[in-house]
Amino acid sequence: MATRQATIRKELEAQAARLRAELAELARGSRPSGIGQRPIDGGDVVDQASASANREQSRFRVAMLDQRLEQVINALQRLDDGTYGTCEVCGEKISDDRLEVLPTATLCVTDREGLEHGVGGGARPQPVSAVGAGQGGRRHG
Ligand SMILES: [Zn+2]
Repeated sequence: MATRQATIRKELEAQAARLRAELAELARGSRPSGIGQRPIDGGDVVDQASASANREQSRFRVAMLDQRLEQVINALQRLDDGTYGTCEVCGEKISDDRLEVLPTATLCVTDREGLEHGVGGGARPQPVSAVGAGQGGRRHG
């Protein structure tokens, strides 16, 4: 039991390290130039044209990696708490098979499917785009 979790922890920590490294790499490449310029490492000359073309792509990638990193960190915290492997919704044990496939799983299969398909009593109706365009806090660069 304990050894199994130790294996999972190692796996998750390795994943977190990989994700962080990739995020750091992307952050370096997508930093906006112009304001507060700093010499980075010195060596490679950044091709500005392709950098801006890649920015959209990398921003999307950063968001994705960020989300995954969050899930991994969350799973590590759950290992510490001793709540790892139990469903966040119903508190049931998540099957070992499922955790092997998806170590960051926080929901049992039933609740997961309930969320995805909107089946079951627990599903709340999501407010669909009631927020106006004026309120978006996101910057478009
Ligand atoms: Zn559940």
